[in-house]
Amino acid sequence: MPARTARPAPAHPTASNAEEYVVSEHITHRIAGKSWFGTAERTGEVFDPATGTVQAHVDFAGTAEVDEAVRAAAAAFPAWRDTSLAGRTRVLFRFRELLAQRQDDLARLITAEHGKVVSDAAGEVARALENVEYACSAPQLLKGEFSENASTGVDVHSTARPLGVVGVISPFNFPAMVPLWFVPNAIACGNTVVLKPSEKDPSASLLIAELLAEAGLPDGVLNVVHGDKAAVDAMLDHPGVEAVSFVGSTPIARYVYEKATAAGKRCQALGGAKNHMAVLPDADLDGAADAAVSAGFGSAGERCMAVSVVVAVDPIGDELVAKLTERIAGLRVGDGREPDSEMGPLVTAAHRERVASYIDAGLDAGATLAVDGREPGIDGGGFWLGPTLFDRVRPEMPIYTDEIFGPVLSVVRAASLDEAVELINANHYGNGTAVFTGDGGAARRFTGEVEVGMVGVNVPIPVPVGYYSFGGWKDSLFGDSHAYGPEGFHFFTRRKVVTSRWPSTAGAASGGVNLRFPGNT
Ligand code: NAD
Repeated sequence: MPARTARPAPAHPTASNAEEYVVSEHITHRIAGKSWFGTAERTGEVFDPATGTVQAHVDFAGTAEVDEAVRAAAAAFPAWRDTSLAGRTRVLFRFRELLAQRQDDLARLITAEHGKVVSDAAGEVARALENVEYACSAPQLLKGEFSENASTGVDVHSTARPLGVVGVISPFNFPAMVPLWFVPNAIACGNTVVLKPSEKDPSASLLIAELLAEAGLPDGVLNVVHGDKAAVDAMLDHPGVEAVSFVGSTPIARYVYEKATAAGKRCQALGGAKNHMAVLPDADLDGAADAAVSAGFGSAGERCMAVSVVVAVDPIGDELVAKLTERIAGLRVGDGREPDSEMGPLVTAAHRERVASYIDAGLDAGATLAVDGREPGIDGGGFWLGPTLFDRVRPEMPIYTDEIFGPVLSVVRAASLDEAVELINANHYGNGTAVFTGDGGAARRFTGEVEVGMVGVNVPIPVPVGYYSFGGWKDSLFGDSHAYGPEGFHFFTRRKVVTSRWPSTAGAASGGVNLRFPGNT
């Protein structure tokens, strides 16, 4: 691995003065526009995944700090709710420009804590920008309805009102994009936010908050608290939090959804995935192999839309595995900051060990190890694991049943399109899937019959654009709202319907007392 020179880390770099944003050694909460100056009872370590060294400590919030953040958000709510649509969207337009200008700084910050290669991190920010752009349409999207003279002399109109303080809890794998699935729409709708990013890579959220402040967002509209389960529980227990948007693994998503809704909060909780890519015999096999390797090993497989299972429909299995093997051999694994690297390390040592243990489990279960990534040949102490390919994986094996969330791709053989669809539909996850084929009729059958929320046809990672909504089915999403796009606006607002009578003649008779249920005339 190429040597890196250490860069000095300023204690508190700010959005406006940092030439290149680097990780602070001490990362703390941002409440009401200011860094938190208390003493944390607990802190966590933030690693540089490429070297395995601790580069920072992050304060963990408990009930008191979460309460302080919710109070700050509640205090900011009335004025932000009453800020005109023009005023709110002006902030978002400015934020969009600042985010685009600082895309590379944010990407480098993501790479420093997450490990993904800088070009991939920049791609994450580019997709995040789409959500900011969508939120800039708030004046159009928040239009109400009006019915003149719905009853004689009576008009009816509806408005979309913000909810109040909303909580956003995000995972480690998209430290900028996932917070920006929710924050722009939530604030565009007039809500105020407490964001709890992953404790593994907490700095991107702080840069986002600083850029929003620079764009003119009033203090307290977005607050960032760091931490783990204790902070999440404090948010879920807090009576001042009206709604929670969560993204993470399925067991935690289920837990958050059940706890939030039991407390009367609105909740959308997006969970884990096991995404299948079906390759039909008439597909362009070179294109399909390129797509499977890109979607399986990009970000070291740490994507909820990563392809983790290739379903090779007879008779192309052997040919496809040969093409995958050849491509995997050419992948360049290395420090995400180096321009030549295509795949970085895993996020933590514990996660690397967990993923590696699945390679042993696959061998124990009798799958064929076509490419073994356990010894990637990189010196130094980073959390390295090379790309790994299993062939002849069967549905009862743990490498098939479990979400591995690492660079381990499985090939399952299927006899027909029907068998492929049956396999995918039997899986309890339903986030993303794709079919590769040259047959429009087969693709149409696949898209119609498959029980998955986001489907690609010759597109391996079908993440919807910002003006659609993102969400899986089955155990990949709890709640009935998908993230961002129109469903995001729906989630962050509630409708109010106003029925008004303004008699056109001053002093017109009311018609007298009448206890009958009011009808329309
Ligand atoms: P995670 O579930 O471990 O953590 C997610 C968030 O929950 C973090 O903020 C974390 O601090 C918090 N958390 C962790 N344990 C908790 C507990 N016991 N109680 C309460 N809160 C807890 O997930 P992760 O490892 O950070 O992220 C990877 C997972 O996220 C994968 O399963 C991936 O598929 C999923 N993911 C899903 C989507 C989607 O859109 N469906 C998108 C990105 C990631």
